[in-house]
Order: sequence, then C-alpha cells, then structure tokens
Amino acid sequence: MTTIANNLHLIRSQISAITQAASRPTASVELLAVSKTRHADELRQAWDEGQRDFGENYLQEALDKIEALSDLEICWHFIGPTQSNKTRPIAENFSWVHSVERFKVAQRLSDQRPDSMEPLNICLQVNISREESKSGILPEELPQLAEQIASLDNIQLRGLMAIPASNDDPDLQRQPFSQLSELLKQLQKQLPNQPLDTLSMGMSGDMAAAIREGATIVRIGTALFGPRDYSQ
Ligand SMILES: *Cc1c(COP(=O)(O)O)cnc(C)c1O
Repeated sequence: MTTIANNLHLIRSQISAITQAASRPTASVELLAVSKTRHADELRQAWDEGQRDFGENYLQEALDKIEALSDLEICWHFIGPTQSNKTRPIAENFSWVHSVERFKVAQRLSDQRPDSMEPLNICLQVNISREESKSGILPEELPQLAEQIASLDNIQLRGLMAIPASNDDPDLQRQPFSQLSELLKQLQKQLPNQPLDTLSMGMSGDMAAAIREGATIVRIGTALFGPRDYSQ
C-alpha cells in the first residue's frame, strides 16, 4: 500500500475508535481530505482508497485539480478565504464552502449558483478564539449574519466552522470546540427551518478533541498527505 493509503486507513480507524469512545453513532464523523499544495496524483491515490470529499484553500490551485480529476466523482469543499470578486468559480465548482464570513459573499454565491446544481452548502466561519489575525466572525455577530443568509435561495446554511488557537493540551483543546458546539445549538433554536447539522472542526493536531465535542466533519491534511511544502 502507498503511504497515503496507509495513512487513510489509520485515520479512519482512529476516527471510528474516538467516535465510539465518545458514545457517538458510527459514521457520524466525515473525513474531509485537505489537499492544498498536493498534486492531483496524490488526491487520486486517496480516491482509489474510497475518499470522496476533498478540501481546497486556494481557488486557482483548486480549479486546476478539479480539471485534472474531472474523470472522478469528487465532492469539492472550499475551505480558504473567500473574496467577493472570486465567488463565481466557487459557486460553479464546489459543493460546500466552509469559510463564509460576510453576507455579501453568501449573496453572490447564491446568485451565481447555477440552477442545474443543488444548493450550495455553506458553513459560517467563527473566530472562536478571538484572535486578531484569524478569519471568521465573532460569536456575537453570528445570529444576525445567519438570519440574513438563511433567506438566500441557492444556499443551504449547514453549520459552523472554526480553527481555534493552537494548543497542545488535549483537554484545553476541547474548550473552543465545546463553545462552537454550543453556538450551533443556539443557531438551531433561532432558525428551526434550516438544515443546521454540521460542525466543521478538528485538524491533524486536534481531531480527537473535536470529535469528542461533536465534530461532524474533520478537516485533515498533514496526517493524511504528510507535511506541506510551500516552497514550490
Ligand atoms: C490546511 C487546513 C487544514 C488541515 O490542517 P492539517 O493540520 O494539515 O490537518 C484544515 N482546515 C483548514 C481551514 C486548513 O486551511
């Protein structure tokens, strides 16, 4: 087996062990393979082992891979920064956007979503650790933004995404995830008619803590494909 195949099987068994230990239903956590900087051939190796969901951060790089892998049935997730002048290719090529933080962007994604496609699934990115440098809205801004976005035609508001401040302590890692989970519960009460079922949280370094706090999508790059090389 290739390294990627091996890693994939290992991550899957970790996810299922952690899910079980947390008394959560089997298959309640989906693995999103984060493939930024990786070559199309590496994604194909993961696809050959049954991986179908891939997450990309950079639009042009993503579009090149979508083209190169157009013979495969892949569910593409956009997880990088969203700019309002680059929404059309996102609306036309992706099934999910995890990183929405402005109404204007959501509105354009909705307007530009082709009628022939299913509504675009989106998550709102929350700056859960309140870091100056991080993308995302603050928790107190969530109710108003969610309310506005819920009214858009070609968008399904699915839930929340966060990248907490990094922390090596597994117990402290759980705090921001627990906060995000609480915010989703509040949102479900506020907007009972939206399909709010998604907590996109947990990466290679904090996947276990995120699953224990209710993650439904974990976004894994390094543990699957190895360390990234940004020099090329
Ligand atoms: C790169 C990235 C990941 C994957 O991080 P790893 O630590 O490599 O698993 C997950 N989510 C987002 C938004 C990312 O940009």
